[in-house]
Amino acid sequence: MSIAGLSCHRIRLPLVSPFVTAQRVASHVEAVLVRAVDDDGVDGWGEAVTTWRVTGESSASVAAAVEGPLADAVLGAEPSDVASWAPTLEHAVVGNAAARSAVASALVDVAARQAGVPLAELLAGAGASGRERPRGAVRTDMTLAAVRTPDELDGLIARAVAHARAFGTLKVKVVDAPVTRDVLVELRRALGPEVRLRVDANQAWDAGTAVDVIEHWQDQGARIELVEQPVAAADLPALAAVRAAGLTAVLADEAVHTVADVDAVARHDAADGVNVKLSKSGGPVQALLIADRARAHGLDVLVGCMMESTVGLATSVAVAAVLDARGGPRVHDLDAGMWLATPDDSRVRYEGDVLVRSDGPGIGGGLS
Ligand SMILES: [Mg+2]
Repeated sequence: MSIAGLSCHRIRLPLVSPFVTAQRVASHVEAVLVRAVDDDGVDGWGEAVTTWRVTGESSASVAAAVEGPLADAVLGAEPSDVASWAPTLEHAVVGNAAARSAVASALVDVAARQAGVPLAELLAGAGASGRERPRGAVRTDMTLAAVRTPDELDGLIARAVAHARAFGTLKVKVVDAPVTRDVLVELRRALGPEVRLRVDANQAWDAGTAVDVIEHWQDQGARIELVEQPVAAADLPALAAVRAAGLTAVLADEAVHTVADVDAVARHDAADGVNVKLSKSGGPVQALLIADRARAHGLDVLVGCMMESTVGLATSVAVAAVLDARGGPRVHDLDAGMWLATPDDSRVRYEGDVLVRSDGPGIGGGLS
């Protein structure tokens, strides 16, 4: 049965507390859900997050892309024939990766529902020769919003201690270096040695600042597991300089949107790993291509998410499950559902740091 229609549904969901990064402060999930329906009325859903400062897309731009060129690319396509429609969708527009991701996610959800299998099985090609069914648990870190002034430190430490009971890995957003310099040291003192600490600077620093701050943390016993995108996305030599300092692992995030970006990161020896996200890469099929390419270069791969609803989250968790089955488990970066003021367990739920997927077809759950 082929795709008969696409429609857009704007959502705005409050967060439990403001999400502060070096790029923005968010109080809500702002997204567009895309529904795809086939000739028989089987439907599937995907999500496009819309943040001008991160994705460069808005609800209006997503709707225009989905209802225009992306609909032209997939109407009449057989959802299960991914190899046929995915390249067409990929090239239907320049940019607009979140809109493309929502459409691709909705189509693979339809395909999984048509086949009566969970999305992770469909994406893994389960049943095809040699493909392992992705049954394992997907683990995640928990992200903590950045401290903007020293008097916010006590609040950060309280949240970190509370989350450390359930999450073995915490990811700390940071802003400018002078404020951040002692935050990680204090945090490590409060948490003790067991918890793994990741830091995400969201491009806030230059290479010299990054090396100086990380050296200070490691000297003071803060022991961070990795630093994510410490410098500007386009500046791969700077990212390579942070890595070459040998202080901690470097994870590329904003620097990698495409397979070509992964090749460039590898060429520059700029990172130890890549944070792969649906909204950057254009959907689950492209995300798996990017991840496979990264691994072929010897780079580690984590799956991350934006502030999004459980529609996008469940799609990302399925991608993470496929990658874990292929390359061994990782602690991914999929805590968006923990940030929703109104929890939604219909598609995926948290048991401590484990994301439990629905047994139902597609991403599970139901929307109407
Ligand atoms: Mg990041």
